Amino acid sequence: MPNIDNNADPRRRLPSVDVVIQQAAGLVEQWGHTQTSKVVRTELTRIRVDIAAGGHSEVVIADIIRSVEAHLIRINQSTIRQVINLTGIVLHTNLGRALLPKKALEAVMLAASAPINLEFEIEKGMRGNRDSHVEPLICELTGAEAATVVNNNAAAVLLVLNTLADGGQVPVSRGELVEIGGSFRIPEVMERSGCKLVEIGATNCTHIEDYEKSISEKTALLMKVHTSNFRIEGFTKQVTEVELAKLAHTHHLPLVADLGSGNLINLAEIGLPAEPTAAEAIANGVDIICFSGDKLLGGPQCGIIAGRRQLVDRIRINPLKRALRIDKMTLAALAEVLKMYRNPKRLRGELPTLNFLSRAVVDIEDQARRLLPAMAAVLPAEYNVAVTACSSQIGSGALPIENIPSFALVVTASNDAQLRRLANCLGQLPKPVVGRLNDRKLWLDLRCLDCEQQFAGQLAELGELLE
Ligand SMILES: *Cc1c(COP(=O)(O)O)cnc(C)c1O
Repeated sequence: MPNIDNNADPRRRLPSVDVVIQQAAGLVEQWGHTQTSKVVRTELTRIRVDIAAGGHSEVVIADIIRSVEAHLIRINQSTIRQVINLTGIVLHTNLGRALLPKKALEAVMLAASAPINLEFEIEKGMRGNRDSHVEPLICELTGAEAATVVNNNAAAVLLVLNTLADGGQVPVSRGELVEIGGSFRIPEVMERSGCKLVEIGATNCTHIEDYEKSISEKTALLMKVHTSNFRIEGFTKQVTEVELAKLAHTHHLPLVADLGSGNLINLAEIGLPAEPTAAEAIANGVDIICFSGDKLLGGPQCGIIAGRRQLVDRIRINPLKRALRIDKMTLAALAEVLKMYRNPKRLRGELPTLNFLSRAVVDIEDQARRLLPAMAAVLPAEYNVAVTACSSQIGSGALPIENIPSFALVVTASNDAQLRRLANCLGQLPKPVVGRLNDRKLWLDLRCLDCEQQFAGQLAELGELLE
């Protein structure tokens, strides 16, 4: 490969873009002409600036091509990267919520890589309905007559209200006008769905009479919203689903419940705080329930709608349903996750979310003690690390008060800047580690650490970054 004459005028020492491109045929083949020449141009500009500043005594085309290749590899890396979740929040919305079990991943692979009977009845050779892959399962697990699925629970609420209450009034207790975070506010979604919210009761107390007084010929339905992410304590009064269903049905109105996290089993059985199940809501007389697929359920992102057949049929034919429908990969994953709920005893072993949530606290403590010496060894003298009891959270608004006992590696430093520097270095590791800064300490809650070797294997690199 010819080198450039380094004795010539510095401005003429650089090869043209075309000359570099000609010698980088392999890169053009792999990354395409447009992208490669753009990166070559950037690299040549960088060298020109460097020459002007007195650098780059020698220009070698092979070096230029090597830099270009490194640059191309870097900019073509996926922006989606694995991180290690040591926040102590099991269902962290910013970290992607639930992790799918292996069977669901296999179903996703199949659905994504081969033609499937998504909306096709193989025996009859006829067009089918994509809901048919999950509807019977949802009905079996909730006791509902019919079910459908959309993109997420926010979409489910929007679709249900738009179908059943467009142009009508919907009374909701002032204690249930929740904001879920990430800009989902019940009053705003209601407005977008075309119905009119009628606020009733008070923040802490709403009585059956409040609902009764609010009902007029304009009322489209009654609605109950799970106050997922907060709890009102002290002097409080809420109307139960049973009372509300009775009132709604007396007035020939449907009762809708946004269950938020939606849960299909008795969580107390796996040592977690009890949370009402979807089946209980249906048994209590709620006509339509909706809940998320990727919260406590531990499945893919989706919003499940279940209840009376006649209402679900109306929801299904709303043109908005098409805009909000779930894709085949989600559907395939959801079907597998739902099937696992047929045998609740095996769920803990099969579903990562429930596995994390139900981990024995002694196991987490043992893990922390195992990792402590290696962590202490790589931290510079200004840091101190200890094993400390802490509380994990379910996250995504599920059971916000109930904390689950856990253990963390807790790092303290002589000042806050050093603590932030540590958090920053943890974020620079090949598998970035996300902890929680709280109370002038960095907490690495080990509840969700299922890749201990990966974490431990990076500690030497952490030490280098901190030097
Ligand atoms: C989380 C939640 C939602 C939104 O669900 P997504 O699946 O995140 O869209 C709606 N309502 C309640 C009560 C929730 O807890």
